[in-house]
Amino acid sequence: MGDVFAELVGQEAAVETLRRAAADALATLSAAGGDPVPSDGAATAGGMTHAWIFTGPPGSGRSVAARAFAAALQCVHGTGCAECAGCRTTLAGTHADVRLVVPEGLSISVGEMRALVLRAATTPAGGRWQVVVIADADRLTEAAGNALLKAIEEPPPRTVFLLCTPSTHPDDISVTIRSRCRVVSLRQPPAEAVAAVLAGRDGVPPDVAAWAAAAAQGHVGRARLLAADPEARRRRDAVLAVPRRLTGVGAAFDAASALIEAAEAEAAAAVAETDAAEKAALQTALGAGGTGRGAAGAARGIAGQVKDLEKRQKSRATRAQRDALDRALVDLAGFYRDALVAALRAPVDPVHSDAAPLSTAAAEKWNAEGALRRLEAILACRTAIASNVKPRIAVEAMMLALWRG
Ligand SMILES: [Zn+2]
Repeated sequence: MGDVFAELVGQEAAVETLRRAAADALATLSAAGGDPVPSDGAATAGGMTHAWIFTGPPGSGRSVAARAFAAALQCVHGTGCAECAGCRTTLAGTHADVRLVVPEGLSISVGEMRALVLRAATTPAGGRWQVVVIADADRLTEAAGNALLKAIEEPPPRTVFLLCTPSTHPDDISVTIRSRCRVVSLRQPPAEAVAAVLAGRDGVPPDVAAWAAAAAQGHVGRARLLAADPEARRRRDAVLAVPRRLTGVGAAFDAASALIEAAEAEAAAAVAETDAAEKAALQTALGAGGTGRGAAGAARGIAGQVKDLEKRQKSRATRAQRDALDRALVDLAGFYRDALVAALRAPVDPVHSDAAPLSTAAAEKWNAEGALRRLEAILACRTAIASNVKPRIAVEAMMLALWRG
């Protein structure tokens, strides 16, 4: 028999919690007049409750865990068998009572949230649960968060909210929402667990799997991409070449430009297809090019819709650029971390085993202090970008700091 939780790598404790809650949810459904599911952030004996937060570092599988739990709640066996109609339609994203919200831009709007909350309050068509999965709950605007909070405070009897956020820090999720939810913490999966999945399930040769798992620093999706996509490997190689290219002020600015432009190109390629398809679909729906009576008024309406779409697409492109740049910064941080480890002669494996000769040579030149200062410059750059400093300025400052040491 299959298992909806099989995709979660190295998360035994969390899976155990979710299995028990799903079994408990099934018992609640079948026990006529049994204990109702508490709505105040407390849980039944088996741990089922109305609102959950899934936290963990990027790539640990927050939304995978939430989706698997949603499937287990809709599973006719209550286990998440991955084979019944409830499991299969939930995983495929077509279950009538499961809604997955993936914000495309930088935030989820209050309008979207209100509509979602309204639909979530309806009786589940399948007779089990209405499940709402919010993939990036940390991107809720304050108003959207308030609309969600209201629903979580007074949940309809059969509605379950599953929120995914990087952490339960107040920057990511409001304290009041947090206090109403049960938290499932995912950890960064160990590299061996990621490598075992790549080798066992995806058929990646074991040595490539081990390398990709280490280079991806516990990010399952990234490891998969590095193992399979030569373009992703080439981009990573370019990032790891940065330290030896930093030979002066001019070179530092050049390296900053190259990093920013690579992120822009990667993001543009990632969204181009969706953008074009959306635009074509909108034009077809609007019957572009109409003439005659009412065409002028219709044209004004069309212009508004096209403008809306362009705004959404721009927001998504910005987000894709930030994500691409952040991946590059994490790879780069891995190099300086390896140099620090080498300088300290710490008995731990390097992140970038293929660049180990370079990071070891750098360690001899910089010592531990120099490696640490450079690592801190990268972390400061990420923090600056997260607090809305223009990426180019933050990256230029970082490159200068990396060069000067
Ligand atoms: Zn099932």
